[in-house]
Amino acid sequence: MTAPRYYREAVETAGRDALDGIVDERVRYTVRYAAEHSPFYRSWFREHGIDPASVKEHEDLLSLPLISGKTIRANQPPVKEDFLFRSVDWGDVFTVHETSGTSGTPKAFFLTWEDWERYAEKYARSFVSQGFGPGDRVVVCSSYGMNVGANTMTLAGRGTGMTIIPEGTCSFPVRVITSFRPTGIVGSVFKLLGLARRLSAEGIPPAESGVKRLVAGGESFAPEAREHVAGVWGCPVHNTYGSTEGSMCGECVEHTGLHVPEDLVHMDVYDPGMQSFVRDGECGRIVLSTLIAPGEKCGTLLLNYDTEDTTVVLARDRCACGRTHMRILNPQREAETFRAGGAYFNRVDVERGVFQQENMEYLTGEYEAFLHNGEREGATDLQVTLECTDPDRTDREGIGDRFTRGFIGSNPFLRAAHDGGLLTFSFSFACIGTLEHQKLKGRPKRVVDRRSGIGGRS
Ligand SMILES: [Zn+2]
Repeated sequence: MTAPRYYREAVETAGRDALDGIVDERVRYTVRYAAEHSPFYRSWFREHGIDPASVKEHEDLLSLPLISGKTIRANQPPVKEDFLFRSVDWGDVFTVHETSGTSGTPKAFFLTWEDWERYAEKYARSFVSQGFGPGDRVVVCSSYGMNVGANTMTLAGRGTGMTIIPEGTCSFPVRVITSFRPTGIVGSVFKLLGLARRLSAEGIPPAESGVKRLVAGGESFAPEAREHVAGVWGCPVHNTYGSTEGSMCGECVEHTGLHVPEDLVHMDVYDPGMQSFVRDGECGRIVLSTLIAPGEKCGTLLLNYDTEDTTVVLARDRCACGRTHMRILNPQREAETFRAGGAYFNRVDVERGVFQQENMEYLTGEYEAFLHNGEREGATDLQVTLECTDPDRTDREGIGDRFTRGFIGSNPFLRAAHDGGLLTFSFSFACIGTLEHQKLKGRPKRVVDRRSGIGGRS
């Protein structure tokens, strides 16, 4: 069976003018829907003196104010008596979801059945663009429950011919691999590496497990980490980005950025420092707006929502895969960006250092890093603990050198901070399973700022 190239070919390959036409029609309907059905947006339009009918095309969104996670929290219990972002009657709410709540009260999201179908379609397009199709059996390791991703990913199986194996974790028994012979796995980079180690220990080389593609999501990762996972599993690793807010984007087989399903979600990029939207090619925060087609219902609708994830718009022309929808750089969490010696770095830069090819002869890839005050005034020491297969037989000096080179990369600000002694590194090596975060529950925090007297982020 050959996999189809597209899930919804006409839309996915539409020319720019046709695509803009669809987007603008949906912008008009979504804004009108917000004004009529969302208690929050009804007063937002009034308070900001915005006439909803004046928003006619996507460019008009750029002149409207932004909202954020804080806005959602301020408009739901316990702050308010009701959920002011809910934009349908309870009778039309199919499911209720919550974000993880790592930064305060979880944000509540209400999904209608049509929202489920839209979310599932975004994932379905992404899976098909990665080569999945009829006959594929895919283990979903993302967690189910209040989190919307795994649930709607499962619904994406419908209409693509894929069979979903809804494990909800990467710690499933090895027999799932040997009995069902899955052809794909969705999981995070670290979980996929852990699973590979478990398979190898049971005498099943991951490259011979029958798995043909991996989808890595849940968090951003360095290209070096992707290369390593692809090498271990002997198959391509495709990237995906998604959030409860509905920003599902997927990387096609070309690996030239993640396609944004532009007819289903609108994205702009904003620089909070400059307080303005930026041009393609410049880095900023993803600001998203829900798009719904005329006649559809939406449970929680967002206009100009600041995700606090950063990206760069890479291209809006036709990709080699034939799709015309814009491509963005793997988004990074701004909450995982740190400032040291006048330079900025992200958790992904730390992983760039860890996953240097020659390091992986000794390391598992698992690590944790702590930022401490350095010896000099204003200096930062990045203390990295690396998990290794045999701490006694590890090329410690070589790993440190390669980490430093990989971490700094071609960033002149990090180079200057390091050369000037304002950013130093120290390394320690740990046996498997002994890192601090491995003893804690929940999403592991691999880079922790323990400095005092230094503004961590900007
Ligand atoms: Zn493509």
